[in-house]
Amino acid sequence: MAQQDGHVATAGNNAQAIDGDTGRSFQINVDQAGNGVFAPNPGTPDQLVTNIFFCNYMHDFFAMLGFTKEHGNFQTVNSSGPGKGADPVVAPAHPGPVFGTATMLTRADDLAAEMNMGLVAGPKKRHTANDAHVVFHEFAHGVTNRLVGGLRDANGLREDQSRAMGEGWSDYFALTIPSFFQEREHTVIGDWVVDRPDGIRQRPYDDQYPGDFGGIGKTLDGLDYTEIHNVGEIWCAALIETTRRISAKLGSKERGYRITWQAVVDGLKLTPKNPSLLTARGAILRALKDLRGKLFTQTEYPEVRMAAWGSFARYGMGFDAFCPNASFVGCRAGAALPPAGHED
Ligand SMILES: [Zn+2]
Repeated sequence: MAQQDGHVATAGNNAQAIDGDTGRSFQINVDQAGNGVFAPNPGTPDQLVTNIFFCNYMHDFFAMLGFTKEHGNFQTVNSSGPGKGADPVVAPAHPGPVFGTATMLTRADDLAAEMNMGLVAGPKKRHTANDAHVVFHEFAHGVTNRLVGGLRDANGLREDQSRAMGEGWSDYFALTIPSFFQEREHTVIGDWVVDRPDGIRQRPYDDQYPGDFGGIGKTLDGLDYTEIHNVGEIWCAALIETTRRISAKLGSKERGYRITWQAVVDGLKLTPKNPSLLTARGAILRALKDLRGKLFTQTEYPEVRMAAWGSFARYGMGFDAFCPNASFVGCRAGAALPPAGHED
């Protein structure tokens, strides 16, 4: 948190978590030992505002993976070098519902992003700001909108498949970040905020997740793949499966997560505007190849590569999958692995 005299505040160089009514951040008093004393005032959004400040954590998480000022991250002041500043994430906690439940508005590098968090309708009246899944999900939208060709206009995810992946990438980070720190894997998103054990997606993201690339644009077996969040599930399921399989191959959850997160972020940078799922799959495989000798050895590479290919193939994005463009029309599933001698 940002240090000021005698207290810390939920407003710093990269994130400004504020009360949607007053525009003010929450000031937390610091005791003589230098520890923050968290004492939210009852009847105020202090707790919500503090939780939204998870954005600060996300800034550091993605900076570690290479979403830095050169790549258009969210910072008021860039200490040195290229990249434009003046663009923190401004994140108000609104007392009532907001359009879209919770939203992230990303603009070009040097214009602030805006994350709006509101109340979910329902008997329990839970607030999206209090659910880390939602804060992580919304923040990740900012990252993908900037990294996929969006530095100048934050507008690289317009086609249906591209927008769907925006949702899938956001679910992927929102789930795997908590999963990394806990013994049990999180496979359901938004369950707390809507107070439903099955959360806000069609099925849990476990290894039984049923959809695949060939279902895009269709409705079958009670699953609807004509809407972007729903199609995003297929993408998220494939990325989580990749994380699992790489972890299993290397016998290390820590390495599996680290490698997959890195390949996904590096892949975003290699992905052209308005990608299809297959284009983005190719970028991740290329990123993995570039990570040889960095996060894993040359000897480990074939196993890591095939773990990724196997995961994509499991969700219909194998070597022989096809789509004519990035719309939801004409997607054909394929389960083949690449032939011997194929590059990535
Ligand atoms: Zn979203």
